[in-house]
Amino acid sequence: MTTSIVWIRNDLRLGDNIALKEAVNHLREEDELLLLFHIHPELVRDFDLQQDYFFQTVKVFNETSGPLHFIYGEEEEAFHSLFEVVTDAGDIYFNKAETGFGKKRDERVLALLEDKGIRVHTYIDHPLHGAEEVTKKDGGLYQVFSPYFKQWQKLPKPGMQQVDRDKLSRHLTDRTEEFSSGGEKYNQLTKKPLRDWQEVGEEAALQRLAAFLDEPVYYYDEDRDIPSKDGTSLMSRYLRTGAISPRTVYHRVMQDTDGRKRQDGVESFIRELAFRDFYHMVYYNHPEAGDQELTEKFRGIPWNEDEEIFERWKRGETGFPFIDAAMKQLNETGWMHNRARMAVASFLTKDLLIDWRKGERYFHQKLADYEAASNIGGWQWAASTGTDAVPYFRVFNPVRQSERFDPHGEYIKAWIPALADVPKTYIHEPHKMPGEEQKKAGCIIGEDYPEPMVDHKRMRERAIEVYKQRKD
Ligand code: FAD
Repeated sequence: MTTSIVWIRNDLRLGDNIALKEAVNHLREEDELLLLFHIHPELVRDFDLQQDYFFQTVKVFNETSGPLHFIYGEEEEAFHSLFEVVTDAGDIYFNKAETGFGKKRDERVLALLEDKGIRVHTYIDHPLHGAEEVTKKDGGLYQVFSPYFKQWQKLPKPGMQQVDRDKLSRHLTDRTEEFSSGGEKYNQLTKKPLRDWQEVGEEAALQRLAAFLDEPVYYYDEDRDIPSKDGTSLMSRYLRTGAISPRTVYHRVMQDTDGRKRQDGVESFIRELAFRDFYHMVYYNHPEAGDQELTEKFRGIPWNEDEEIFERWKRGETGFPFIDAAMKQLNETGWMHNRARMAVASFLTKDLLIDWRKGERYFHQKLADYEAASNIGGWQWAASTGTDAVPYFRVFNPVRQSERFDPHGEYIKAWIPALADVPKTYIHEPHKMPGEEQKKAGCIIGEDYPEPMVDHKRMRERAIEVYKQRKD
């Protein structure tokens, strides 16, 4: 008899999980299967909404699909403690990371496992198409999304990888008593959650997807730009934690949508799934992208170092209601609508001329759906420094964004109570309210809601000038 180990990471589900399926398929009658989870110090670094959500998913998985066996600390220490308990380990299966911290950690662990003589089986499971699957004719990787997407569409999609649940439960072992608890330092599972997360785990993911495919998906192309509407799938947090796989999302869309209904929404949604793979591929190809501008000429921009300005952006006190509503949505819920992400990222980098890396790191702390590749991709796009980014001279106007995408101020009012009674005429620029109107609306500018912290027109010109100087 040997024990096979499945190392669970950001694939916190039983359904459609390649490594788990392969491990179960290869078990002999006498073998046992142990589910492992490694809590690396990096995973608990600055505990905030992002990590809180992730660990709530770990907790739900442990309770409904586990038990998970936890090991703690740097790679060597953690895996040493594993093999002290599991002395008959034969094979280890996991869905490997192709990018970022996970990739480096996997490389370190692979070396340890090889030394130990363990048979290692790794798979690509997190994207729909792995980084090297979508290539140009000459084998090179794409820089621009449109041709990438054309090629992505042509490729046959990997099928769902269903796990033999009966066999899994026959072989699943519970040796948790032999594993240490990790103490206070590491054990995030006993902490009180930072907020009352309602949407956690595999079951919740499948339910949300079904609700989205029932109707909203057909109007996704139109509704996806309106932050006050519940018009997007909210799949990102589940994809990030692996509570659902991108294959399941893709195939459910294909199978469960009605071909006789509007297809513009369905097609537009599939395109966004490809965007996730695109940014994954870009990050794979440019591991330095988290720290460095991909466009060389835009390296070394003299960013504004004023911390107080940065803090006002973080708190949502810029005096631009659309920007402030978005930041409050992020701070309170760990999620922000895509249209608003683009607007706040543009505002930080162009209107405030603050380094996009600071924004990227703040999102890292707060986003329940944080994916390094998509976040870095999104920030470098907004800062005009990435591949296929917004041109530097096209600066988002925060008031115009507000008027177009939140015409009645519903999103603004949902997140900024001080503006709840401001009439529609002034909702995008409340500082323009005459004194009498301010009193009537119960919103005195400078007391209840701030003046705009910058003059957009001037800041736009300044940003264009700064970028232009780098370019020339
Ligand atoms: P839907 O609109 O329903 O889209 C479906 C899925 O497609 C999403 O769940 C996501 O997996 C993928 N997707 C959609 N848009 C994008 C995109 N632009 N790039 C990559 N994938 C996309 N997305 C993340 O998942 N994690 C991040 O950390 C992240 N950071 C971002 C930072 C900035 C500055 C910007 C502009 C965008 C960022 N995005 C990120 C992309 C996008 O905002 C979110 O994926 C989306 O808002 C998630 O909500 P949803 O699941 O309802 O998306």
